[in-house]
Amino acid sequence: MRTLTATLMVALALVTYAGSVMAGESLTGVRYWTAPDHTRIVVDLTGYASYSTRVMTNPDRVVVLVQSADAGDVSRSTAVGDGVIQHIRINQIGSGAQVVLDLEGAFEHNVFSLKPYLGKPHRIVVDVFSDVVRRISEPVTGDDGPVATRVIVIDPGHGGEDPGTLGNGVLVEKEVVLDIGKRVAGILRAKPGYDVRMTRDSDYFVSLRKRKQLAQTWGGDVFISIHGNSAPNRRASGTEIFYVSPGGASDQAARELADRENAADLVGGVSPDADNDVLSILVDLKMGGNVQKSSHLATMISNRIASMDLGRCAMKQAGFVVLKSLSMPSVLVEVGFLSNDQDVDKLKRSEYRQEYADCLVLAIDDYFACYAPMPATSDDTHTVAVGETLWSIARRYDISVENLRRMNGLPDDGTIKIGQVLSVEKS
Ligand SMILES: [Zn+2]
Repeated sequence: MRTLTATLMVALALVTYAGSVMAGESLTGVRYWTAPDHTRIVVDLTGYASYSTRVMTNPDRVVVLVQSADAGDVSRSTAVGDGVIQHIRINQIGSGAQVVLDLEGAFEHNVFSLKPYLGKPHRIVVDVFSDVVRRISEPVTGDDGPVATRVIVIDPGHGGEDPGTLGNGVLVEKEVVLDIGKRVAGILRAKPGYDVRMTRDSDYFVSLRKRKQLAQTWGGDVFISIHGNSAPNRRASGTEIFYVSPGGASDQAARELADRENAADLVGGVSPDADNDVLSILVDLKMGGNVQKSSHLATMISNRIASMDLGRCAMKQAGFVVLKSLSMPSVLVEVGFLSNDQDVDKLKRSEYRQEYADCLVLAIDDYFACYAPMPATSDDTHTVAVGETLWSIARRYDISVENLRRMNGLPDDGTIKIGQVLSVEKS
């Protein structure tokens, strides 16, 4: 009797197994995020499935056929309407599931698959690149040409496919840090002398490499990355400020945190075509003097957190990919522990987030007050101060704007930077 039961169970198990093999994998979800220069579509699968891609025209479409896959209960049509993609449609074609992207134009695209990682299933990712960059932040220009500014790069961590830490499940890191980042940007933009750029200003994924590239392209004067912490010890609380260390992390916890934050690219999904140096942990020593300035900026933030009574604050050194190789002073601020009930209670409140943003802005003010432009060293030079334009300087020294620009080899648009020393000698 026992043998018969066992035999039956084995037979049943075989039937069930064979059944699942026949059916292949299933689609379990389709999601999308709109970034300034592309739209990302992520298809979730119960397991690995091979796929093929076709481009069709008139109207423009990208069709991804997921082989031996069941379309499952996934919504058959999702309206996107973000200027790049009109709809995402799912069809069952024989034994395969077809994902059709109806495009607004003949846009470039890139398709790749991702293995399961940190709770994410097997995925197929399609990035469709728009030919215009939407919502780019432009420098403020007046009639007199660009006003001398300090470029502040605010880098809210994670986004899109990568939620960051979930802590105790009440708050999502990517949402908290975006909100605080936007508040910091808002306060800074209302002040003279700051040109604020954000590496993301909405819910989409940005690779660590892209964040660094943006900061370099914008010529950032400081780079502030904003994140949320978590720890197995639920009593750990408060702010941790990191700046890059040529010698590596200052303690084991910092090392583990750096590993976790650096994993963002694996969670969020970086195309295998991307350069491998995204995950490189080699420190670029051209950081040089920036290490000192970064530690200075970290100290300013720490002092303001203490004076505004915003909880515990520790300064640490660690090897975060996003801070490495940046040729500008840069810090990564973990604004609190999402694994700590008190920190979560604080970070849930918009008044607290605003207060925290105020604190970061005051620290940025403090930092630039320390690195104030040096006074002009002679009658023949002028050091650019906050709010000045090439035109106002030209008028002050009674030189034509064109001469001033040519004498100093300035770009055609007359961009000048605070602290820049210009020759104002009349020829
Ligand atoms: Zn993070």
